[in-house]
Amino acid sequence: MAPGVLIAAELRDLLDPGPVPGASVTWLPTDSATPAGGFVAIVPLLSRRIGPAELAGMPRLRIVANCAVGVDNVDLAACAERGVVVTNTPDVLTDATADLTLALLLAAARRLKEGQDLVHSGEWTGWDPRQLLGLELRGAVLGIVGAGRIGQAVARRARAFGMRLCYTAHSPKPTLELETGALFLPLDDLLARSDVVTLHVPSGPETRRLINARALARMRKGAILINTARGDVVDEAALVTALVSGQLAAVGLDVFAREPRVPDALLEHPRAVLLPHLGSATVRTRRAMANLAVRNVRALLSGEPLLTPVVAP
Ligand code: NAP
Repeated sequence: MAPGVLIAAELRDLLDPGPVPGASVTWLPTDSATPAGGFVAIVPLLSRRIGPAELAGMPRLRIVANCAVGVDNVDLAACAERGVVVTNTPDVLTDATADLTLALLLAAARRLKEGQDLVHSGEWTGWDPRQLLGLELRGAVLGIVGAGRIGQAVARRARAFGMRLCYTAHSPKPTLELETGALFLPLDDLLARSDVVTLHVPSGPETRRLINARALARMRKGAILINTARGDVVDEAALVTALVSGQLAAVGLDVFAREPRVPDALLEHPRAVLLPHLGSATVRTRRAMANLAVRNVRALLSGEPLLTPVVAP
């Protein structure tokens, strides 16, 4: 009998034809619960939780090929315990996500949302030298929290705008420092020195609510916070308080703690630039992510090495 493979239905149009030859593919829409059954592989979106209950319902499962670089929706320990392989989609989304980070950074620093709202309101009365003055990027300090693939791609782009860079990570990145002049700092020092802080750490027990009320209070008054990592890296309630009080001048957010829910205070705030988790949303990147996820399934089923393992066999 052909092995059963579950693939997120939303990936269908992005995949090359015949994604898993010899398998029986079931297309799984986001709003459907994860079915129980004899499936050997699942290719979920990041919004689908794969934990002990889902794993128990699929006793023949061999691989969770997550269609995202972050794997915070997957219980890695439970997978490892059951001998289920986990893969992700690193690298192919780095440039798209770094581009979007710069888009948010520019939008927040140069007040694009307020400018656009003013034009659309019909109340713009003409050029005014005092109108919507923002932060000039040249010479401003960008603090990069998490200098991995995306954080480093953001660093290179920010250098081209003349920003001065500091970063934090588990370990220093000498090549990044040579290339961009970035300074390795403990998180508290980075927060205190940066005009703009941008988040690129994965979500996990170590980083959940890393940016809490205490961290936000360490930031420069009137600084800008950009988050294209995961919503739960920030304490969202504390973020709202910091923005409303003026401790933060502006925020640029692509991710939220309870997507698709967004706090009203953010929706209403003129200096909150908010996007619906678009980091990797280019045609080329989304195709590359979908096909990389499925190539991991094909590799596992044909006994070849996995392309991008997170939890190996
Ligand atoms: P990565 O290459 O693994 O980089 C993660 C970086 O975070 C590494 O430099 C790591 O340090 C650092 N780090 C981890 N824990 C830390 C901590 N507690 N304190 C300080 N630094 C820490 O991952 P990536 O490919 O750049 O992706 C980063 C995240 O972006 C993903 O996990 C995902 O959640 C998010 N993402 C979002 C979108 C979107 O659509 N908005 C798209 C793609 C990715 P070391 O290198 O020293 O270990």
